[in-house]
Amino acid sequence: RNILITGGTGFIGKQLCHHLSEQGFTLTVLSRQNPETIRSTLPPNTRIINSLSKISASESIAGIINLAGEPIADKRWSETRKALIKESRIATTQKIISLMQRLSEKPDFFISGSAAGYYGDQKNQSVDENTPPVSGFTHDLCAEWEQTAQQAAELGIRTCILRTGLVVGKSGGFLSKMLPPFKFGMGGPMGPGTQWMPWIHQNDITSIILWLISNPNTRGIYNLTAPHPVTNQEFARCLGKVLRRPAILPIPEFILRLIFGEMAILFLEGQKATPHNLLQQGYVFEFEYLEDALNDATRN
Ligand code: NDP
Repeated sequence: RNILITGGTGFIGKQLCHHLSEQGFTLTVLSRQNPETIRSTLPPNTRIINSLSKISASESIAGIINLAGEPIADKRWSETRKALIKESRIATTQKIISLMQRLSEKPDFFISGSAAGYYGDQKNQSVDENTPPVSGFTHDLCAEWEQTAQQAAELGIRTCILRTGLVVGKSGGFLSKMLPPFKFGMGGPMGPGTQWMPWIHQNDITSIILWLISNPNTRGIYNLTAPHPVTNQEFARCLGKVLRRPAILPIPEFILRLIFGEMAILFLEGQKATPHNLLQQGYVFEFEYLEDALNDATRN
């Protein structure tokens, strides 16, 4: 059975591709990159395409996983950059919908990305999948991305939306950017430190996606966040503990705003999000507590 995946070369996608292949799926990866440079990083026999137009209407695709998008936290947000962050996700998702309309045999499932940032800045409010969002750039981005993806449900395809928290894993993601200062004992809470950080271990992301694929009754919105979110201060304390380094140097809010401009909201705002729907439907987390997750992710 074939799965089409966008963002299969990314931090989350790469690990996922190898697990899907181990489960016996064959893969088609949509990528803008030169196939020869990425082939060795993907499972053997992966088909790499640079456009969804390469897929003919008569092909059989069991499911589609959609993770592609311009990185959110790589560069300061100019208006052009914000448009690219949005457009890269919406346009890819829209092209997937057009492909679904074209396919004579519809895929069984569609799993599409979003983020806990959907809820906007929720302060100390506990957040599950039914919590009303607060407006702002991350909400607008995720809302439009989700609405585009939900057109698959209107075509009768089982659709799951992943409102993912900060992914803690080896070699990549936001943790790899945070590690250098913390390893030098220069880490600490950001801004007030009381803002919540919904997080999840990379292994759980992969397991949840496999679980969604193999449970035909799952559909709708899922918070992909560990059951125990932490505040930014607690995150810094925990990372310092795991690395056996002091982590007490706070980074004041005005410095973050100076360095990152508007993008500083990614560090200064947050959600005390919990995975209500996953827990209610029986998913069992491998990493429930941040300390275990960080211990694993920082081990060589
Ligand atoms: P990465 O940045 O590692 O990978 C994103 C993928 O998107 C790449 O494989 C790339 O594929 C593709 N891509 C990048 N820029 C563009 C573009 N301009 N147009 C089309 N495709 C593009 O992301 P992650 O694996 O970390 O995350 C996957 C998704 O989950 C992302 O959409 C992200 O926003 C979301 N997410 C991630 C979180 C995290 O902590 N990692 C948290 C919450 C949400 P290629 O170069 O092969 O074309």
